Amino acid sequence: MIENALHSPENLIPELNIHRRVLLGHSPTPIDALPHLGKELGIEVWAKRDDCNGLAFGGNKVRQLEYYLGPGEQQKADTVLITGALQSNFVRLTAAAACKLGWQAHVQLEERVPSDDTFYRTSGNIFLNNLLGAEISYFPEGEDEAGADNTLDERAEKLKKAGRTPYVIHLGLNSQPLGGLGYVRAAAETWIQIKQSGNEPDFVVIPSGSGLTHAGFLVGARAIGWNVPIIGICVRRDRASQITRINQRAKEIQKMIARPNLIKESDIEISDRVLAPGYGQMNKAVQEAIEKSAHMEALILDPVYSGRTMAGLFDQVRENRIPLGAKVLFVHTGGNPAIFAYQNAITDFK
Ligand SMILES: *Cc1c(COP(=O)(O)O)cnc(C)c1O
Repeated sequence: MIENALHSPENLIPELNIHRRVLLGHSPTPIDALPHLGKELGIEVWAKRDDCNGLAFGGNKVRQLEYYLGPGEQQKADTVLITGALQSNFVRLTAAAACKLGWQAHVQLEERVPSDDTFYRTSGNIFLNNLLGAEISYFPEGEDEAGADNTLDERAEKLKKAGRTPYVIHLGLNSQPLGGLGYVRAAAETWIQIKQSGNEPDFVVIPSGSGLTHAGFLVGARAIGWNVPIIGICVRRDRASQITRINQRAKEIQKMIARPNLIKESDIEISDRVLAPGYGQMNKAVQEAIEKSAHMEALILDPVYSGRTMAGLFDQVRENRIPLGAKVLFVHTGGNPAIFAYQNAITDFK
């Protein structure tokens, strides 16, 4: 009975089956011990390796796309449209998923990070978008979610008139956060692995951007009665706005799995202490986290997401929110190709 229950995330959370999912990534992803980093910090650390989930350098958006593209497949779409930052991992993985499904990808790149660095503007994810054959357009603003979505919709209309069947992935706050289901599922997957290994963490540390990874993991954990503190590290917005965002997204995700009222105010824990000077920009803490993880564990982290989240983990230990000796699970959400786009920023940071 218990073995059966441990068999798959869907056995633990059958409501996941309400939603159609396309298979894009390898799962379960491994959980690796990071003993040298743990010793350095005075804790025990593991990494959930969602950077290793297979599709075109991997990352958390693979899990999110499995649920975003389910309805698209049902509608027999042949073209997918998405908008994101110049070095967006989501955009790159959407282009990759389109290849797998035999669709065309139209991607819109927004000016979110002030940078005229050549690597930033041509390497990393941009290079990969081209290699994956995506159609690319540019949007001049970086903070106009609704405007970016509107332009995308206009493009979809044109494609429809030209006889194609477009499917738009909207990421604004008024669209259904289907991608969050990927992390509901990931939480159940992680819990199964933990039960098998016996290494149960006292804390989970996870990035908090659009919030679907953080809110999804939180809802998934609580749905199976796993009450571990989950600390979200802000990568884009400050703590106050992020609390509001996670609240909203968690409510919507609970509704999507027909399990309302799982999350309490106190479940939403967020730090923005390593966010300055802002999205996608280096600081001393991020630099230290990237260098130490590389030198001590050969764990490659990027400056925008995984490096910032690891910096947040260091900070939570030093601030004593995570006490010495604690067991901590770091969720590595990927972003690896971006390190090539940011190589000047990483190397030159003082
Ligand atoms: C998008 C992204 C995040 C943030 O995830 P959200 O679900 O948007 O909060 C974290 N890490 C990487 C590598 C990403 O690409």
